[in-house]
Amino acid sequence: MSDSVTLRVRSIIEALPTYKAGKKAEAVDALAPYKLSSNEIALQPLPSVLAVIERAAAHINRYPDPFATELMSALAEKLKVAVDNIAVGTGSVGVCQQIVQAMVDAGGEVIFAWRSFEAYPIVASIAGATSVQIPLLEDGSHDLAGMAAAVTAKTKVIFLCTPNNPTGNVISQSQFDSFIAQIPTEVLVVIDEAYVEFNRDENAVDGLTSMLAHTNVGILRTFSKAYGLAGLRVGYFVGPKHVAQAVAKTAVPFGVSSIAQAAAVESLNSESELLARVEAVTVQRAECEGQLRALGVALNPSQANFIWWPLGDRTDKFAQLCNDRAIAVRAFSGEGVRISIGESQAMQRIVDIVSEFMAQG
Ligand code: PMP
Repeated sequence: MSDSVTLRVRSIIEALPTYKAGKKAEAVDALAPYKLSSNEIALQPLPSVLAVIERAAAHINRYPDPFATELMSALAEKLKVAVDNIAVGTGSVGVCQQIVQAMVDAGGEVIFAWRSFEAYPIVASIAGATSVQIPLLEDGSHDLAGMAAAVTAKTKVIFLCTPNNPTGNVISQSQFDSFIAQIPTEVLVVIDEAYVEFNRDENAVDGLTSMLAHTNVGILRTFSKAYGLAGLRVGYFVGPKHVAQAVAKTAVPFGVSSIAQAAAVESLNSESELLARVEAVTVQRAECEGQLRALGVALNPSQANFIWWPLGDRTDKFAQLCNDRAIAVRAFSGEGVRISIGESQAMQRIVDIVSEFMAQG
């Protein structure tokens, strides 16, 4: 078949950057490769979760439950909200897209911090919306005053990412409270809590409580990070009922597979075991941060399962050195490098690489 020159892709889609996923690590000589580029949990799924996946696999000749009934009720019970307050989707990135599709007409505006989760501008563009990107402050935190000032009559959705990907900063409860007081109630404020389980800052915004206290706040969560199901694609929104219903309507029908639904339910049953792993990641994070700071590295304080080193124009050089040592990190050229907390051997190698890098000057 020859390519037709008469078919035209929407210009907005042609201009769209492709989502840049974290790279795989390549083996180098005898060095075991480690992938620290996608903020995944390094440990394998729990045996109980694997067993459920195996059982669910026996029924994949059938469509999944389109309403994810069991998962929705397990979530409602955990969060102490009504099932009608929840919508699920194919990873929280899928839910993010559903939110924009549900709330923003073409020409509407979506405000978010930048740099932040790189899907925000993509989902906004696909919906024909305009991205309004408010640069992060010098310390990597959201410029909430700038974001509030950017609201216009066209603003439909604001994403707040806390802890922020890639800088790791959190928004405090008091910062959120003064922010939300300035936002018209016609604008949906979505608190993206993809990394919330890794937060240990007591002053950080409590998304769920904040959602319950306001008519225009929702939260976005995922099973990909703390719950270790990145490969299965399940995320969810919790918010006002009519918004959650609209977010459910814009989902791809049968998008969340039966295996993913079953694994997510089992993960909620095994929550304490999974959260113990999360706790171990936060301990590793503190250890690694301490070791890097001792080497003279000026790190951002991270509340997520990654650390952010704002290396500026030395970013690519450092990422290349990691590559040469069989470690994949996420480099944002000219800005900094994001290093996921992974296997302890990987973190030790990172410390060694940083030490070598610092010695190079
Ligand atoms: N939100 C943030 C802030 C993220 O960093 C990510 C993943 N990198 C997501 C949402 C989406 O994750 P998932 O689709 O796997 O739930």
